[in-house]
Amino acid sequence: MSSMTICARFRPLSSKERRDHGDTVCIRCIDAETFLFKDEKDEEFTFSFDKVFYEKSEQAQVYEFLARPIVEDAVDAINGTIITYGQTGAGKTYSMEGPSILVCDEQKRGLLPRVVEGLFDCIKSSGGTMKHSIKLSMVEIYMEKVRYVEVEWLNLTQIHSLWGIKDLFDLSKDNIQIKESKSQGILLNGVTEISVSDPTEALQSLSSGIANRAVGETQMNMASSRSHCIYIFTVHQEVKRDDRLKTGKLILVDLAGSEKVEKTGAEGKVLEEAKTINKSLSVLGNVINALTCGSPGKANHIPFRDSKLTRILQDSLGGNSRTALLCCCSPSPSNALESLSTLRFGMRAKHI
Ligand code: ADP
Ligand code: MG
Repeated sequence: MSSMTICARFRPLSSKERRDHGDTVCIRCIDAETFLFKDEKDEEFTFSFDKVFYEKSEQAQVYEFLARPIVEDAVDAINGTIITYGQTGAGKTYSMEGPSILVCDEQKRGLLPRVVEGLFDCIKSSGGTMKHSIKLSMVEIYMEKVRYVEVEWLNLTQIHSLWGIKDLFDLSKDNIQIKESKSQGILLNGVTEISVSDPTEALQSLSSGIANRAVGETQMNMASSRSHCIYIFTVHQEVKRDDRLKTGKLILVDLAGSEKVEKTGAEGKVLEEAKTINKSLSVLGNVINALTCGSPGKANHIPFRDSKLTRILQDSLGGNSRTALLCCCSPSPSNALESLSTLRFGMRAKHI
């Protein structure tokens, strides 16, 4: 049985949005789960989620509702996934990392440092009956190449885009392969795994991965908003007086921006890149949808294999696992179209 929690979060208006539109926002809160959304043609839509975090919501509230249950289960060897979705600038990374992962106000700390702390707290409170260890990996899925194949006799242009997986703890490993093992499930072949024994160590490793991501970004002339960033915590649980080893995998995903690229603004590589990103996001939507729509006892096809992203997430989205999706949006009328598309993605994922 997999459980799915889907939430929406609106960040505060940015100063630019305020300059352009004053204090106007396109949402009206009804309650903690429901709001009205007004698009640019003044048409109103009602949306309901498991929880809505409005502009004044705090990072701690998001963690408590969306992440804490998943963290507690991971220590009990139940896999989990926490995903942030939304257009670039909507608050995905702010929700995930906070302003900085190492130093920032307690109040502003993001999900990631809270998850780290939560994992170690849970381990501590599980007492002496079990021995736990935590390993950490960090990878980025980026678009490697776009190839155009002209099939002249058919008057067709086929586009092959390839996604690569890069190890953010070791940038020399930039083409990690996904493997499936009977005993361990989905594996990233040869990926660096760092054993972390306390929150400080974990945060330092994460921070080096984040710094590496920025280095790669400059080297490849690629915006981080065009790649998916994946944080993987593997929690091993060894029951004393018993030689069983159980494992819980907790994966956090800061997705590439979901924005649609305007046909007029983007050409060639940028346009193809955007199409590919949207494809991998729509595969994610299809997978989540297939998981939530599955009728009990009836096997339905879940298209995990249609993208590298969903393949990596396969055993922490499907099976006995918990998933949380945070749909991040701007509240400004100037971003209404993208916000609407983000909210619809969330609703579609939730729809049963
Ligand atoms: P994304 O990762 O989706 O591209 P960011 O997380 O980088 O977007 O957010 C864009 C900007 O908005 C950043 O300057 C960030 O600090 C700010 N921001 C996002 N969410 C919030 C929030 N909940 N509270 C305050 N500022 C926020
Ligand atoms: Mg970001």
